[in-house]
Formats: sequence, structure tokens, C-alpha cells
Amino acid sequence: MQVVTTLINKLNSAPLTQSMSQTGTAFLVGLCYQKGILPQNNFRRAPLPLRNIATDALNSAFALRSRGCFACPIACIKKADVKHSAYEGKGMAPTYLAIGSLGVNCGITDLTTIGMASMMCGEMGLDPVATGGTLATVMELVEKKVITPEELKIDLRFGNGEAMVEALRLMATKKGYARRLGQGGLAVAKEFGRPEVFMGVKGHSLSPFDPRAIQGMGLHFATCNYGPHHLFAYTFIDELLNVHQSLDPWEIGGKPLLVKEYQDTTAVMDSLGLCNWPLMGLKFNNYVPMVNSCLGTNYKADDLLFIGEKIWNLERMFNLKAGFDRTHDTLPERFIKEPVPDGPAEGQVSRIGEMLPEYYHLRGWNEQGEPRPETLQALNLEV
Ligand code: SF4
Repeated sequence: MQVVTTLINKLNSAPLTQSMSQTGTAFLVGLCYQKGILPQNNFRRAPLPLRNIATDALNSAFALRSRGCFACPIACIKKADVKHSAYEGKGMAPTYLAIGSLGVNCGITDLTTIGMASMMCGEMGLDPVATGGTLATVMELVEKKVITPEELKIDLRFGNGEAMVEALRLMATKKGYARRLGQGGLAVAKEFGRPEVFMGVKGHSLSPFDPRAIQGMGLHFATCNYGPHHLFAYTFIDELLNVHQSLDPWEIGGKPLLVKEYQDTTAVMDSLGLCNWPLMGLKFNNYVPMVNSCLGTNYKADDLLFIGEKIWNLERMFNLKAGFDRTHDTLPERFIKEPVPDGPAEGQVSRIGEMLPEYYHLRGWNEQGEPRPETLQALNLEV
């Protein structure tokens, strides 16, 4: 209890965890927008009015109430009421993920619509990142006239929030054409012969961070065993928020090491059943006494990170056997060949090709991204 009390006091005095307590993860919206990280219109750009979705707007759009996980001092989960001329609801307020994936990346900035879409996803078991990614893919196909709203029987254009809410209902209940949308963005893009319009890796949609404007996150997206989800390596804690070290999101120096460290750390924390958000106020080392007090062990931080590295490599071996290889450790061409056209990150492209060899080297993998025999031996993972 003494260890826990010390950690809670540390968390309560950390400025960023206080921001989380006020508006949940939505506080990231403004910061990501300022650095060109917040994706718009399927990871292209659009002059969207941020003031409608900024933190202040969130407070006035919903009567926010806190509802954290059990005993968490941060309580980042926010409850809200949605009141819109076309729909009403009660549930979780939109998070950064929902605002990014279901909102801005679909050209939608009306917070009540985003809030409704987010609540519907929660209630109907739809993942907001995958669902938003699928809808953004379809919207771009409509914009490019590859598919027509008449074929879809829903007017799914960028910015049409009411059509998106309707599409969610149809997807979840497998009605009409939306049944096919429920197969996911990659399947829809392939069906129309335009797989390059799907912004994903290993079949999963990207979390709403433009990898051209946050290079470490881009490397993580390309190499993550699960697919491009930020929850498996919170590199933005240092690339954007500068909590433990100050790194420029647009630069690549130090990013392969950063990505490896966050991936290994997250593997340990997931295994311990710990939430990763407190890393915005605590260092990984701070958790070690808590683990030892609980388990009666005498671990050092390096012992736990060794276990994290072992987990990451075991997952990698599973993926290799399942048919994923070096060619899947990449990003959609848009991020590599099309510079950000305007805004704060204008001109940036992902430099994944420069970072990947160093990342493989740090992991002890060969040029094909396979763990070397000596790496597996050192991790006690030989077969
Ligand atoms: S445990 Fe994590 S997700 Fe739950 S309220 Fe705390 S910070 Fe938020």
C-alpha cells in the first residue's frame, strides 16, 4: 500500500495526467493538430476548423463526468450525454481515437455526431479505429468516383456525419450494402481494385497518427506484431509530449531505439494487466517496486524489460510462421511517396526505409526481419 500511495502521489502531481483527468485522451487532439499529426480525410489534408473539436468545445458539447477504471487516480474515461437534432445518447465521451478515426479522418468535426458514432461503436462492438478507417476508405473511393453513393445507398462523402451514423447502424446489423463494409477497409478497397486507398498495415487500419509527422510512431506502425495501433508503443509520450525525453516528431534520430523500448515496455505492462497511460507521469522503473511487492519477487527493471523483449520476439516468431515477413513491415505508399501537402508538417514523408535496418539491428534480427539464432538463444526462445 505504501508503494501504491507513492505512485498515486507521483501521478497526481504530473501535469499531463491532470489533463487526462479533465478531458480524457481528447486533450491530444489540439497537440496533434498543431504538429500535423492528426489525420484528415483518409490521411490527406483538409482545412477543417479545429476550434469545433478542441478541448474547450468538448466540455461545452457534453456535460462531461469522470468514470475511471477501478481505483485509478487519473480516471480518464469520461461519460457524456449526446443531444443532436437527429439522435440522442448516453455513454462514453469520444476519446482521441474516436475524434481522430471516426471524426476528423472522415472529415467530420461536429462533436455531437462524433460522440454518437463513438457510443454506437462501444455499444455494438465495433472498433472505432477499424470502423473509422473503413469508412474513410469508402469516402475516398466515393470522392474518386470509384463507387457511387447510389450503389452504396448511403451518401458516404467526407464530412457527412449523419450518413456515417446510419452506416454504423447498418454495418453492425449487417443490413444492405453496409454488410460488405463490415468486412473492413482492406476488403472493400480490394473489391474495387484500389487497395492503395486503404490506410493500414497487416490488414489493420492505422490509429489516427499521420506517420509522416511522427516518425517513431510510423516505425512502430510498420513493425508492430498486432498491426498499426499506438496502444502497443506510446512513442508520442516522448515524440510529442516530451515527458521523459525531448524528441522532435519529424526527425528520425533515436527513433528505432525509442520504438524498441516502448514496444518491450508495453509487452511487460500488458502482461501485468497495467494500463499504459500512467507512463505520462511515471517512468517504467517506478512500477518495479509495485510488481515486487505484489509478487514477492526481486526483479530489476532490466529483468522485466528482458521479459518484454522475449514476448515481442515470441509474437514475431508466431507472425513469421503465419506468413508475415519483411515485406509486411512497411507503410502504405501514400506515407512514403506523397509529402504532406500543407499545414505544419508540410513536405514531410515517412522515412521508414532509413529507420528499419537500425531497428532490425537493435532487435538482433537479420535483414529479413527474422530473429537471429543467437538472439533467440539469449532470450531462451530456441526451438
Ligand atoms: S486505468 Fe488507464 S484507461 Fe483506466 S481510467 Fe486509468 S488511465 Fe484511464
